Amino acid sequence: GNTVRLQAIKDVEAYVPPAVSFVGDEKPGEIFGENVFSKVVMQKRLPKSVFKSVMATIDKGKKLDPMVADAVASAMKDWALEKGATHYAHVFYPLTGLTAEKHDSFFDPVGDGSALAEFAGKTLIQGEPDASSFPNGGLRNTFEARGYTGWDVTSPAYVLENPNGNTLCIPTVFVSMTGEALDHKTPLLRSQQAMGGHAERILKLFGHENIENIVSFCGPEQEYFLVDRHFFLARPDLLNAGRTLFGSKPPKGQEFDDHYFGAIPERVLGFMMDTERELFKLGIPAKTRHNEVAPGQFEIAPMFERGNIAADHQQLLMTTFKTIAKKHGMECLFHEKPFEGVNGSGKHVNFSLGNSDLGSLLVPGDNPHDNAQFLVFCAAVIRAVHKYGGLLRASVASATNDHRLGANEAPPAIISIFLGDQLADVFDQIAKGAATSSKGKGTMMIGADTLPVLPTDPGDRNRTSPFAFTGNRFEFRAPGSMQTVNGPMVTINTIMAEALDYMATNLEAAVADGTDFDTAVQNLLTEIITEHGAVVFNGDGYSDNWQIEAEERGLPNLRTTLDALPELISDSAMELFEKYKVFNHREMHSRYEIGLEQYALTVFVEARLTLEMGQTSILPAAVRYQTELAQNVSALKGAGVDDVDMTALQAVSAPLSELRAALATLKGALEADPGGDALAEATHAKDELLPAMAAVRSASDTLEAMVADDLWPLPTYQEMLYIL
Ligand code: ADP
Ligand code: MG
Repeated sequence: GNTVRLQAIKDVEAYVPPAVSFVGDEKPGEIFGENVFSKVVMQKRLPKSVFKSVMATIDKGKKLDPMVADAVASAMKDWALEKGATHYAHVFYPLTGLTAEKHDSFFDPVGDGSALAEFAGKTLIQGEPDASSFPNGGLRNTFEARGYTGWDVTSPAYVLENPNGNTLCIPTVFVSMTGEALDHKTPLLRSQQAMGGHAERILKLFGHENIENIVSFCGPEQEYFLVDRHFFLARPDLLNAGRTLFGSKPPKGQEFDDHYFGAIPERVLGFMMDTERELFKLGIPAKTRHNEVAPGQFEIAPMFERGNIAADHQQLLMTTFKTIAKKHGMECLFHEKPFEGVNGSGKHVNFSLGNSDLGSLLVPGDNPHDNAQFLVFCAAVIRAVHKYGGLLRASVASATNDHRLGANEAPPAIISIFLGDQLADVFDQIAKGAATSSKGKGTMMIGADTLPVLPTDPGDRNRTSPFAFTGNRFEFRAPGSMQTVNGPMVTINTIMAEALDYMATNLEAAVADGTDFDTAVQNLLTEIITEHGAVVFNGDGYSDNWQIEAEERGLPNLRTTLDALPELISDSAMELFEKYKVFNHREMHSRYEIGLEQYALTVFVEARLTLEMGQTSILPAAVRYQTELAQNVSALKGAGVDDVDMTALQAVSAPLSELRAALATLKGALEADPGGDALAEATHAKDELLPAMAAVRSASDTLEAMVADDLWPLPTYQEMLYIL
């Protein structure tokens, strides 16, 4: 018994975590934004006219004046050099869902053998990474392999520290030669512009003047697991697929609910302090942290920001977490379902829209029935989610999120809206004609005079709804923990653009016809809730009844990625995205193709790993144990013992044969040629590989409960989830 696993346990026990790096009397407030080329820095360092021009683009959405680039580049370079940067990088977000960056040195050699720091405006504005190996879904022919990065002035540049040298990072879009999007940022900016424009039309009707730059806001809540790195490295499945492909449930799971909001373990707290310090320096407003439901599971929620910045920050947060976890001897797992049998991880996307003058346009106030402007924006959400629920579902579709959605711990695959008591009641009244009252806020008497009287929230909580109103925003809970928030945000922005466009056009026409504005709003709200109210559901989304009722209401129930992805190339989706200039047909097709490719790739990797681990570590362990038992039996027989007990030997032999058979089937499925296109590959992965993997796992998990502990090669669930 000298397994990697037993060695890992010894190493974990001996491990001493590093000290937290908040040093001396350093204050979080002082380091916040320290490494960001922020408005304050720009104001100090840019000529006044340049600063004004840049701010007009950032705050008011005005066209970027290319004339400012040289001045900004030069100020940025000086600032970055002072911060110890030696290189600059255009950072972009290709369709792998990861972050990509191409680094160049600031220093160019000059004739006399020395080097000069150079950074011109044109280098800031445009880069040209050799990008031929990023997924493009047919958007780029191999002979036209070029991709271009373009400066996104609305997301601030920053210096990323690294013990081996600092880098100036510039957020950029990534497009093909023809300007088609090869990334996640381009469509986010396009969709935001579309939604903002139509929101402004509505606001004008409500008498607002000089409305500037309505944007989407996003507050992403990120769930994740931490495991000790010794265990992580002893699990090829975690290392290569991000999730365990084997492992029987631990005797103690999450049934005691003793982890949720429990005291944070000291070692994890050290990690959290360290990540927050790094996030603060990068201007990422880390705010809430707590234990999550499953053992080993945690959450971080930064303060919400403008969608585009929140999305970039979210990507940066994930890479920061990965790096700092390693420093603390742990691995941070973002996979949606690293462990079967305990909760998976999501990334709730909290969405609202507004601007700095008006705040969030989704704030109901004390009397929502009387707040026509709020009701119009809220009705837009209802229409959007009802008309395009399938697209929202497609925006969160992935092989990894399939393990989580609908698994009685995460929202179902049916997209519905939760409004809460108060709003549901208001819209009920609207459906019947007009809303005349709002259920008020109650107070809560706790029964001890020394305690404060607490207000109760009329929009109460419902954890089972995929799209829930939570007081001043909607919370989309279906996105997976590993995803970028861009995909969901692009979809929300675009379907909101359509709804707001429809409503603005309706109201403008009514007003032009001489209808009184209040009456026009009233009629429109009644129409919308009558046509689209079917998407509102305030009950238990986990119940079986809901599956049936949702079908009666005509809501789609797209269970898997392969059910959901075709939504992207439906006529209505193509029309929608084309009309609002977010994606053309080619771009839509490319996203569909890439969705299929990524799905198939993920499952194929897992299938190969299952085969390899099954053959090279689980089968041998089980065979050794079987041999031990067989030797024991023959030794006893040889010693003349009557009635030798064969049950243990027989018991282990049955799942062992199952394992052999299941491995053979899986091998066959992996060798089969599904033929041709991405859809065929993905379908083969779903229908042949996934069930074959499940059979291997089932036999292996049975064996895990039988084989002698000192022979078992893989760290167990118990060890990975409980030793931190
Ligand atoms: P909960 O667990 O109750 O959902 P959290 O505090 O974990 O709440 O996270 C809530 C998230 O919603 C935070 O990121 C917060 O900044 C964000 N949020 C709050 N108000 C808005 C808003 N108006 N628009 C978008 N996001 C918001
Ligand atoms: Mg939360």
